[in-house]
Amino acid sequence: MPAGRFAPSPTGALHLGNLRTALLAWLFARSAGSRFLLRMEDLDQVTASRAHEADQQRDLAALGLDWDGEVVRQSERFDRYEAAIRRLDQLGLTYPCYCSRREVREAAAAPHDGPVPDGAYPGTCRDLSARERRAREAAGRRPALRLRAEGVSVAFTDRLHGRAEGVVDDVVLRRNDGVPAYNLAVVVDDAAQGVAEVVRADDLLTSTPRQLHLARLLDLALPSHAHVPLVLEPSGARLAKRDGAVTLADRRRRGQDAAAVRSWLAASLGLAEPGEPVTPQNLVARFDPARLPREPWRLTADDLAPAETAP
Ligand code: GLU
Ligand code: ZN
Repeated sequence: MPAGRFAPSPTGALHLGNLRTALLAWLFARSAGSRFLLRMEDLDQVTASRAHEADQQRDLAALGLDWDGEVVRQSERFDRYEAAIRRLDQLGLTYPCYCSRREVREAAAAPHDGPVPDGAYPGTCRDLSARERRAREAAGRRPALRLRAEGVSVAFTDRLHGRAEGVVDDVVLRRNDGVPAYNLAVVVDDAAQGVAEVVRADDLLTSTPRQLHLARLLDLALPSHAHVPLVLEPSGARLAKRDGAVTLADRRRRGQDAAAVRSWLAASLGLAEPGEPVTPQNLVARFDPARLPREPWRLTADDLAPAETAP
């Protein structure tokens, strides 16, 4: 049976944007009769924690979202990511990159020729000689590993955005601290878990060409995509945890329980009247991807005022 999934990074409590994406991912899967999987993208063990993981699962359950099978943790699957990296290596499609973050930023900002997307890594280390590599190693630089993408362009059709296309840059496969990179792990896992449709926030739309390219190189089944609108703070910036009353715990302090948050999210998606109580099952019956809003949901200052000053 095909699957959908929600794949948060357990680096803090889920905020309204994450919760809305989770609700949508669940609705896409359940309305299609698919399994729904929960995957913890905890590759970075410095920022991820089991405590956040438990909080996130508790909050999803409080919204009435359920999932099938065991929760998968990326931190326990490094062998799979390394196997994929070996395969790309054998295809001659990897190279070590010695650039620091700053160097990548500066190089990406400089004008360059060729089909390189804005802000993308321009290939500084792509053609280093063995000697140049040795010099960098000798200077104590630990390399990241990058994909030789060769400027390929990948097109796909997104359920909400329609046809999209992007040039693939030389994406990082393994960071210079040895941790496999998000773009690789997500591709390996979605295929291994039988994910047929990837539903996630539309800030990741531009990562999709890279991920499809990696999946093709690795001979994996390609999922379809639905990139859903973001939730924005009143200024129009992407919602962040520091924005105030954005987690279920914050909302509860304002007197809004999980069921009320579910209604609020549903209303924001055109699936309920404002204030109407809804169950997840009601929402499945009403859900029609073609009628989802395509615009971000912008919160008001009043929505985000902390409990003490809330009206
Ligand atoms: N872990 C990513 C995030 O929390 C989502 C990745 C994905 O859905 O592909 O933003
Ligand atoms: Zn480099």
